[in-house]
Amino acid sequence: MGNDIRYQRQVILDEIGENGQRKLGEAAILCIGAGGLGCPALLYLAAAGVGRIGIVDFDNVDESNLQRQTLYSVDQIGQNKAAAAKARLAALNPEIEITAYETQLSAKNAREMFESYDLIIDGTDNFTTKYLINDMAVETNMPFIYGAIQGFEGQVSVFGAPGAPCYRCLYPQPPKEHIPTCAENGVIGAVAGIIGTAQAMEAIKLIVGGESFTPLIGTLFCIDLRDMRTRTLALPRDAHCPACSDHAKALEHPPAIEQILPTANYEGALLIDVREQEEWDAGYIEGAQHRPLSILMHTTAADLPKDRTIVLYCAKGQRSQYAAEILQALGYANVKNMVGGYDAWVRQFA
Ligand SMILES: [Zn+2]
Repeated sequence: MGNDIRYQRQVILDEIGENGQRKLGEAAILCIGAGGLGCPALLYLAAAGVGRIGIVDFDNVDESNLQRQTLYSVDQIGQNKAAAAKARLAALNPEIEITAYETQLSAKNAREMFESYDLIIDGTDNFTTKYLINDMAVETNMPFIYGAIQGFEGQVSVFGAPGAPCYRCLYPQPPKEHIPTCAENGVIGAVAGIIGTAQAMEAIKLIVGGESFTPLIGTLFCIDLRDMRTRTLALPRDAHCPACSDHAKALEHPPAIEQILPTANYEGALLIDVREQEEWDAGYIEGAQHRPLSILMHTTAADLPKDRTIVLYCAKGQRSQYAAEILQALGYANVKNMVGGYDAWVRQFA
């Protein structure tokens, strides 16, 4: 171990001890997403001395992230989040090994990444990636610490551990009519902080083990921060779960939508703005065509050329991600999503 002082305050806990600290030092954790949940989770895992940490994030630090993504500072705006998080964590704890993956998790790269870690922290905010994490975790017998927030409510659970239920036991399929909106996803940093920190604690409990700890395996922890009420629900395994039951079939994952950063020039790509009319009226990227998501989501055949690269944008990148998935399902093979959306584009190029 080498550093007695750094971990002194946790080693004196009977539940951790020298043995637990050694296990933490030997553990390898992969955190998918270094946003509102990933930042606090990573901070506490690095501080606790988890020996090897991987961080997966394609996105760049934006000024609007700083309100909740507490690893980043003003001078890191514009940097890749995985790289920026690595720099911050390395300054906090130079004894641990940190790998930044400046990429998006996909059905192609997930298995290889998962196999070099012991457990996964789910720091994502979109269903596509959550289901991919779940299915890959079940396949590789890898526990993953699920976290989710909505408004002032948060949930934490441990899925994918051998014998435990998985995310699809709770929600078998992604919601069909989920309409992300850039404006409605309000969040206050402290809520993300509490849930991300709870995820870090669950990871530490799983790694250290022992009878003193009861990880959230088969249970869903729910908290409403408005009145601090908590509930812990028993989650049974679903005997017909599409992922983890005996009836499970190979689950299909559509290829991930390619994420691209805002640029000054889209080189022949067709730029599509999926924001609503009043947002479009307030300003748009020169040369873009307007296809509001509210209309696009009800089309069965989009009037767009199939032989061109299509780059979609909304205000922040979530509605356009959803629109990209719609177009992909309609047979458009070359659809890309602009990360950070119009808001990020305006800051850099307007
Ligand atoms: Zn399941």
